[in-house]
Amino acid sequence: MNCDFTFKHYNAILTIAKNVGYRFGNFKESRQGPVLILRHDVDFSPRNALRFGTLEAEKGVRSTYFFLLRTPFYNLLEYNVVSVLRQLRKLGHEIGLHFDQQAVRVVDRRVLEAEVLYELSVVSRILGEEVKVVSFHNPLNNVFCWNAASFTNAYAASFFLKEMKYLSDSNHQWREGCLCRLLKERKYDRIQVLIHPELWDTRPGNVVERLTKAVNDSRLACQGYLEERNDVFKKRK
Ligand SMILES: [Zn+2]
Ligand SMILES: [Zn+2]
Repeated sequence: MNCDFTFKHYNAILTIAKNVGYRFGNFKESRQGPVLILRHDVDFSPRNALRFGTLEAEKGVRSTYFFLLRTPFYNLLEYNVVSVLRQLRKLGHEIGLHFDQQAVRVVDRRVLEAEVLYELSVVSRILGEEVKVVSFHNPLNNVFCWNAASFTNAYAASFFLKEMKYLSDSNHQWREGCLCRLLKERKYDRIQVLIHPELWDTRPGNVVERLTKAVNDSRLACQGYLEERNDVFKKRK
């Protein structure tokens, strides 16, 4: 088996997880026994998130997708993005807020909590249902093991470190080797795995290639918008 960052290998990882008896959990309800919480932080590409969500649903797998409000890569109010959120819900997945602490330049937890609640209210309004779960983008140390009173923090103690093994595909670096092997060995009973949809694709490729594609897709989206809306730009040579 090739341990690359392709949809094919992700599919194989899900098959292994199911075969060895993991149950797929979320941040809303606690589950007994071998449990795997799949978390997707959507840093660049809602479209790739939907590809993941579709693949998971075909295998009967449920996960949670976290979206940013403050990013130059996508706009949560844009029609196509709202449509991705709704389709993910229809496929049975949960939606959460991916909160960029550095964008609001806030460290103090009391002020931070108010900012998070504000963004949660915006995402809830967009989705048309209450969103209460939050993952932090480029987190600072003070959000780890923070059991916030007014929302569910994906880095709260009950999902992190002591009570759950936490693994991430950040920069294509599984710190303990590919997830497929850890699952096959049933090394950990309770696991939260963070997977960034945009770091995976149909073909193998490195992180820089994946990020370059995200930048190009974003540029093409802006270009397409201008070609549709701006006559001068449309008629350019
Ligand atoms: Zn592998
Ligand atoms: Zn992120």
